[in-house]
Amino acid sequence: MAWRSSGGSNRDLVENLWRNQLITHQQVKEAFLKVDRAHYAPTFPYEDSPQPIGHAATISAPHMHASAAEHLLPFVTPAPPARPAPRVLDIGSGSGYLTHVLAELACAGSGADSGAVVVGLEHIAPLRDLGERNMRKTARGRELLDAGRVRFRVGDGRKGWLEPGEEHKKWDAIHVGASAAEVHDALLEQLNAPGRMFIPVDDDESGWGQHVWCVDKDEKGVVSRRKLFGVRYVPLTDPPKE
Ligand code: SAH
Repeated sequence: MAWRSSGGSNRDLVENLWRNQLITHQQVKEAFLKVDRAHYAPTFPYEDSPQPIGHAATISAPHMHASAAEHLLPFVTPAPPARPAPRVLDIGSGSGYLTHVLAELACAGSGADSGAVVVGLEHIAPLRDLGERNMRKTARGRELLDAGRVRFRVGDGRKGWLEPGEEHKKWDAIHVGASAAEVHDALLEQLNAPGRMFIPVDDDESGWGQHVWCVDKDEKGVVSRRKLFGVRYVPLTDPPKE
């Protein structure tokens, strides 16, 4: 399935993801067209496969980014059930690509002066810097950063993240880009009601198999979990020793 979506340009890649029904929502397609993967993937940007970005990390494959955006869509766009200004946390932001795509969705129709906030969180400082540097390659990326719509931070994603000065504000959507040992309590706690989390979780302690889970919190705070599909992500861990 994956390689069949590869293309010769960003538009080709997105059209192929659309044709293969890996992207099914027009808003997701538009956001993917706005963000050229060549600014984020150092090699083979239009192949539908992960690419190394240094520090033992990879930019995930386009079909995985597509799946994350498709599942999180109702909670990242500025329309009910999400708030007018969605708040989105992207844990393990790596290249910064998905952080940027999520920001395009969160600001859709309202521009960079919306109150939307998308935070890319990394536990490796040079990768935090990489995400921001990649996003600064385009005028649109700089606009979203300079307006405070996108912020790249350093922290341990297993503890989640609350913005300094905005500690009372939780997240409408949380994306986790590395495989967690469990659905960490801090992440559930920091999810708004309603809210949604897209998180790969190890099947058991061996860390061998992993599945993506879609974890929903409804308006009353009731949590439900749906197992989506098997994946192979890098683990959500302690940062490597220097
Ligand atoms: N979404 C990124 C995926 C990068 S790979 C992209 O597509 O570019 C997973 C990332 O998770 C790596 O960059 C790794 O440094 C980060 N990571 C791993 N454990 C983490 C933790 N405990 N807290 C925050 N980030 C973590």
